[in-house]
Amino acid sequence: MNKLINFFDRSVKYVEPFLVLFAITLVLLDVYTFFKHVVPDILHHSGRAVAGAHVVWSMWLLFNVFWNQLHCTLTSPGNTLEVQEQALQSAMTYDWRWCRTCNRGKPPLAHHCSVCNKCVLKMDHHCVWMANCVGFYNYRFFVLFLFYMWVGSAYSAAVLWLHVPVMLRLSDPTWEQAGFLPFFMFVLSCSIWLAMCVLLGWHVWLVLTGQGTIDYLDNADRAAEARAAGRRWSNPYHLGLAANWQETFDVRGRWWWLTWMAPSRRRKLGNGYNLKKQQHGGAPPSGLMTLLRL
Ligand SMILES: [Zn+2]
Ligand SMILES: [Zn+2]
Repeated sequence: MNKLINFFDRSVKYVEPFLVLFAITLVLLDVYTFFKHVVPDILHHSGRAVAGAHVVWSMWLLFNVFWNQLHCTLTSPGNTLEVQEQALQSAMTYDWRWCRTCNRGKPPLAHHCSVCNKCVLKMDHHCVWMANCVGFYNYRFFVLFLFYMWVGSAYSAAVLWLHVPVMLRLSDPTWEQAGFLPFFMFVLSCSIWLAMCVLLGWHVWLVLTGQGTIDYLDNADRAAEARAAGRRWSNPYHLGLAANWQETFDVRGRWWWLTWMAPSRRRKLGNGYNLKKQQHGGAPPSGLMTLLRL
């Protein structure tokens, strides 16, 4: 059984680069459809200025999708093997565990990824579409990728619907000219948008509540145990809604509510094993966790 799991984990590493290329191909096909069918129609009906604005906007979305995908794929999420053993040892506290495979301490929120075969810092999940683990240093690129895919697929579906009017009139002879591609891209954009609504919504909730996908399950168990015992448990890494957002996207200052979505390649501050915690151990002054009684 173990051999089978190992084989599966190893094969993921070979398959995932093709999934990345497949995703890039679909996005480029959408860009081709946009320039072939949508831009000429806007140019014809609304003029050069409006068409120019559409091109600039679509290129901005495309740039952000690829920027964040590239950085999520190429940035190491951070793992315990990258950290000097001495630094790890001196940071160890009672809530650390020990990873026998890495033979190193495992900080809170770090998990051993069986595909990467490393303990990944603040691991969220191993993403086959990014061919990488998503963790402390690259999680913000992952969420920003979802965000720009969400905006981009909604925009793509809207302009295809509005500017390829023959798309759904299959009996129309002009449909032959438009071909199958705009229709296919419209259906695909709608499907991706729906998937992004779920995925992005889930990650926005996780960011706001200071949790990761894996830790969410642990936290739910801890909260249920505490409730059964008549106690109240609160997630120590939940710093408050705005502070969680700032911490995840590594943004500070007056304009943080805007700058979180700007493309940036600056290495995230912090080390991934000494994570910020609530000061008092109690519930934060305001937050979803309080509302949801987690
Ligand atoms: Zn490990
Ligand atoms: Zn991994």
